[in-house]
Amino acid sequence: MTDGANVIDQSQPSIARVYDYILGGKDNYEVDRAVGDHFKNNLPGSVAIAFTNRQALTRAVREMAEAGMTQFLDFGSGLPTADNVHQVSQAVNPDIRVVYIDNDPIVLAHGRALLATNENTTVIQADVRDSLAIREHPEVNRLIDFDKPVAVIFSAILHHLNDDENPKAVVDYWAGQIPAGSQVFISHFRSGDNAETIEAEGKLQSTFGRGRWRTDAEIIDLFGDLEIQEPGVVPAARWHLQAAETAQIGSAERELSVWEELMTAAIAIKR
Ligand code: SAM
Repeated sequence: MTDGANVIDQSQPSIARVYDYILGGKDNYEVDRAVGDHFKNNLPGSVAIAFTNRQALTRAVREMAEAGMTQFLDFGSGLPTADNVHQVSQAVNPDIRVVYIDNDPIVLAHGRALLATNENTTVIQADVRDSLAIREHPEVNRLIDFDKPVAVIFSAILHHLNDDENPKAVVDYWAGQIPAGSQVFISHFRSGDNAETIEAEGKLQSTFGRGRWRTDAEIIDLFGDLEIQEPGVVPAARWHLQAAETAQIGSAERELSVWEELMTAAIAIKR
């Protein structure tokens, strides 16, 4: 499941390319745009999920870099977009090392081009369920020293694993690989127990065979023994809003849309 001659299949939609389309990117095909347009047209407001997720991820990366994390593992990294993890983190500390991991061949293709001149950053094609292969990957071991704190990112990826694929075991594995002081960021579709949740989950399941809107308790459970930091698992749109961003996005206390409530975020620390 690691690096291989995987060909980009333009006849089937891909999660990475649909997400790219929703975020306004250009690395997508007609099949992807059809799925994206379903969300845009039939579930108005749902695109807010993608944007609030990206904004929370950016805040998390900056905070982790400012907290002294010098190495990042980003699972399900997606296609290059604005404010990529290496750009945000290396703006804080240019020596930060970043490994992007995604199973979609288009991510590898575009990532390699973007990173051609950045020795501290790499992208590998691998399946997040294949933890051992990732742990043993030469690029991971070139850039990540597992004796020093690692920032681990699961941003909008674990909800693409169904329950029988055991996303908690994935988090547990990496929590076991990193030393005390490491930080783990998770953002995740949150079940609002409402019609929006049911419809969106149904569309993703019928398109990709995956996509789970989990309850708060299920998302908290994913962190296992990691110590979740204040303010806990909360809507990504509210998570650690900085003063400057609050001015742009609106008050941290403003009422969120139904869709903004359906994406959560949190950081935990390994003790
Ligand atoms: N992390 C980015 C973010 O938060 O903006 C991208 C999130 S995007 C919604 C989900 C990404 O996870 C896609 O790029 C997809 O290809 C990747 N992905 C889905 N299932 C995966 C798996 N089993 N292994 C590795 N990557 C996966």
